[in-house]
Amino acid sequence: MITIKSEREIALMREAGNIVALTLKEIEKSIRPGISTKELDKIAYDVITSCGAIPSFLNYNGFPGSICASINEVVIHGIPKSHAILRDGDIISIDVGAKYKGYHGDSAKTFLVGNVTEAKRRLVEVTEAALFQGLKQARPNNHLSDISHAIQAYVESAGYSVVKLFTGHGIGRALHEDPAVPNFGNPGRGPILKVGMTLAIEPMVNMGTSDVEILHDNWTTVTVDRKDSAHFEHTIVITENGYEILTKIKGEEM
Ligand code: MG
Ligand code: MG
Repeated sequence: MITIKSEREIALMREAGNIVALTLKEIEKSIRPGISTKELDKIAYDVITSCGAIPSFLNYNGFPGSICASINEVVIHGIPKSHAILRDGDIISIDVGAKYKGYHGDSAKTFLVGNVTEAKRRLVEVTEAALFQGLKQARPNNHLSDISHAIQAYVESAGYSVVKLFTGHGIGRALHEDPAVPNFGNPGRGPILKVGMTLAIEPMVNMGTSDVEILHDNWTTVTVDRKDSAHFEHTIVITENGYEILTKIKGEEM
């Protein structure tokens, strides 16, 4: 069931989103060759809890971290580790969730580590742009799959592929609510978007094949061809005029 959030609920999700955005900003300051993903996880835990929130991912189905930290060919769900050290030329996708007064925010961003090749840089740029191409379709009376289609069309026109095994999702009291928001599909399908729906839109974009596999830790998801992958995500609410990004720092333009 897709829930419509009240103004009060949206206000709380704006707070959760602000905390998520502050966390990503703090992590960004520390991204450099030599730092471990465990250290980045500690930063996230400290920011989220100091804001009076709870890390949404910590212990979620047993996940052992406050962030997902996914380097290069890791698509999503990388587990923070003290021996996972960033190297010059890596890209790293950081996914953050925070629960504030019962409501979640969820956002992800891929960062460049030091001097990154032009090829990797372009993958990251296209993935971020794909998110915003999808968001252009986020408005009342559009179909959900108009977002999905816009993302896929943009990504494939750039010569990359979208991951199909994982999707975006509704969000609110639960981290994952209905509906699933695929990053692929024909337009004009699925639920009609309505004011007050809250969605996490999150293209996962691969340089090569769209096929992914999950490693033996049951979390780490990598590209089958071990080529790079990038991931951007925002939590939004559908508004009268289109959408509002909730996972942003209060007062900052997006
Ligand atoms: Mg996320
Ligand atoms: Mg998500």
